[in-house]
Order: sequence, then structure tokens, then C-alpha cells
Amino acid sequence: MGLVVQKFGGTSVADAPRFHRAARRAIDAKLQGNSVVVVVSARGQSTDELEQMAYEITDNPSKREMDQLLSTGEQISISLMAMAIQSAGHEAVSFTGGQVGLITDNAHTKARIQRIDAERITSQLDQGKIVIVAGFQGVDENANVTTLGRGGSDTTAVALAAMLRADYCDIFTDVPGVFTADPRIVPDARKLDQISYDEMLELASLGAGVMHSRAVEFGKKYNVLIRVRSSATDEPGTEICQEVDGMEEIVVSGVSLKKDVAQITMDHVPDTPGIAADIFARVAKANVVVDDIIQTEHGTGGATLSFTVDSADLKTAQEVVAKPAASWPGCEISYNTELAKVSAVGVGMRSHTGVAHTMFRALAEAKININAITTSEIRISCLIARDQGEEALRAIHKAFGLEAKQAQNSI
Ligand code: ADP
Ligand code: ASP
Ligand code: MG
Repeated sequence: MGLVVQKFGGTSVADAPRFHRAARRAIDAKLQGNSVVVVVSARGQSTDELEQMAYEITDNPSKREMDQLLSTGEQISISLMAMAIQSAGHEAVSFTGGQVGLITDNAHTKARIQRIDAERITSQLDQGKIVIVAGFQGVDENANVTTLGRGGSDTTAVALAAMLRADYCDIFTDVPGVFTADPRIVPDARKLDQISYDEMLELASLGAGVMHSRAVEFGKKYNVLIRVRSSATDEPGTEICQEVDGMEEIVVSGVSLKKDVAQITMDHVPDTPGIAADIFARVAKANVVVDDIIQTEHGTGGATLSFTVDSADLKTAQEVVAKPAASWPGCEISYNTELAKVSAVGVGMRSHTGVAHTMFRALAEAKININAITTSEIRISCLIARDQGEEALRAIHKAFGLEAKQAQNSI
């Protein structure tokens, strides 16, 4: 007998008919002889609405209470999903993250999963029930509710699939799969049949919100076959899997845009060993994820150190770097909060040349200035002005010839 995990995102459980449709999918998988675990997100825009409620009370809600609040969205969905399955005459039971022993670290609002207690789930599956688990949430060692970061239900689903050794993990969403670019911004983007974990990981970390990047990390580490599919149709969607022969022939698989980038620049930083280590130890301790780091030496004038963070982390990062900077004579800190990052990703970049040139030329022709450039083995990213981000995405998508012959997405 097989075991499958199905995850339904917010739009896929936005109203009663969609709950029934999602329930039907779970029941069908069960009737085909599988054990079925369902992971659900909060309904529609409800996480945004909860967040809004917090900001109506205070500008600076504590992260612990934010998690306590945001986790309620998923708790509503799990019970409604269980009711939908039960109303169709099948057995189902719902659990919060804490109830299935999903233990995380204590980094509120972006916690990382440490372990999951399989027993509670497997004993219910063994009794023939469809098990429904709340996405996006867990508890820390002291039973405080935590959340995994926006979009984190994908990670709950893939982590469960890894732990339960599921045959596959279906991510049901509002698009028919992973596209060469966000189809909301690039209408002629093309759906991919397959993409490697490494490429998806880069795209997800660089703004392709269709998958939470940590979900892809779990998928890669534990070799979980992930299928991103539409909850509205029966199309096969996109498989995220190990790299297979032939993938390297495609130079660029997709392009992405990260809109919420902020850059911190520290001028006249002492040019002595240990300074960067000190700064980034402090930043890491504050749980701020740092993206691109660029350091330039100026001889006797010290060095200039720039790094980027998610805009949401800017305030924390500002506070953290202000302390050591105050003790360095002449050190000045400036910020650029109006940046975006546009990236091209493909495993084929390892063996093909000219990719950087194509990307820079496309941006130049669109009269878009490049603020900084960073690369990895399989991607090139440019920091640009945020208000030119969407135009830049369309320009590079076209330059790499990624467009579909006819627009095929259903948005
Ligand atoms: P869910 O609520 O189901 O988790 P999300 O909103 O998190 O859905 O993710 C789906 C959205 O991701 C799509 O509506 C689409 O606009 C966006 N998206 C961004 N990049 C891509 C991409 N490369 N391919 C497909 N969708 C993408
Ligand atoms: N409900 C959470 C969010 O909106 C988690 C998720 O949907 O994956 O970000
Ligand atoms: Mg999502």
C-alpha cells in the first residue's frame, strides 16, 4: 500500500466548494489504496488578515504572539477539511503542529523543523483514517507555538512526506505547475514538466513564491518526489526531482524576481582580520538571513561592506550593526530600501558560456541599471531598482527565449 501527502494552499481551500473538492482528492487517493496525509494552509487571504489585525493593535507585535495568532488560520482549515471528508462518509482526523509533535527551534516567525513524532500520525493511518495536519506551524521545546515563515505549509508537507517515506508529495495550488517565471508578471511564461531540486531551490530562494525554499531543501535531502499541481484540474503539473540526463542542455530553466530586498552599506569599516566575522556573528545571532555580501578594500581608508537582507529584517539588522559601527571611528552606515533582485537560474550554466552577457544586454536594452551582481554555479542575479523589477523580469525572460508559443497559463 502506498502513502501520499497532499498539500492544499490558501486559494485551494478558500470556500466550502473548494474544501469539498480538496476532500474529494484525498478520498480518491485513499480509495486507490493509499494511506493519505493532508496538509492545509489557512483559507484564502486569512493569514494576511490576521497579520493586519495585529498591526491594528500595535506597530511592533512580539514575534511569539504573532505566531500564536497566525497559527490559528491553519487550525480553522484542518477542522473544516476533516468535516468535509467526514461529510462524504470517510474517516478523518485533524491535528495541529503541536499535536503531531512537530518540534521546531524557537526562532519565532521563521522557525526551522527539528523533528516530527511519527507515532501519532501512523497509528491513525493504520486505523484507516485520512490524517489532516496544519501546515506552517509547530511548537518549540517549551510548547510555545511557532511558525515556519510565510509559505511554510509547503515545508510541513514535504517534511512529513520525508519522515513517512511517502511515494510523493503533491502541492496543490492556484497555478498548473512551476513556470519559467511568475505567470502573474510574465503572461507568456511556460509551464515546466520537470525541474531539478537545485534549480527550484535557487528559484524559490530568489522570489518564486510557488514553493517555500525549505520545502525544496527537505525534498532534496530526503529525495522526496514533489509534484506542483493545480487544485482545479487533473493536469500532471511539474515534478521537482533529482537532476536527470538532458537537463544540462537547457541553459536557463527559469527567471525570478525578489521584490523585498534591502541593502545595508557600511563605509570605513576597519580593514583588519575578524571584523566581518564579528559583524556576521551578530547578524546571525539575531536570526537575520543575509543574502549577498560584497566587500571592497580602500587601502588606508578601511573597507566598504555591503550586504542584503529581506526588507522585513532591515530594522533588526540596522539595530545589530549600529553597535559595532559606533566603536569604529568614521564608520558610516547607509541603506537602500528600494531594491529588487532579478535572477536567471539553470543547471546548464555550468557548461554553457554567454549567459551573463545575454542577461546584462537585456537589462541594458531596457535601460535598467545594475546596482550589484552576484552569481553561483547555476544562477546569475542582479540588484536593480524595485520599480523596474517586473520590467526586468519580462526582459530577461524574453532574452533567454523562455516564452511559450501561445500563452497557456490559466490566470
Ligand atoms: P498557495 O497558497 O497554494 O501556497 P502561493 O501563492 O504560495 O500559493 O503560490 C502560488 C503562486 O506562486 C502563483 O499564483 C504564482 O503567482 C506564484 N509564482 C511565482 N513564481 C512562480 C513560478 N515560477 N511558477 C509558478 N507560479 C509562480
Ligand atoms: N498560511 C501561511 C501563509 O499564508 C502559510 C502557507 O500558506 O503556506 O503564508
Ligand atoms: Mg504557498
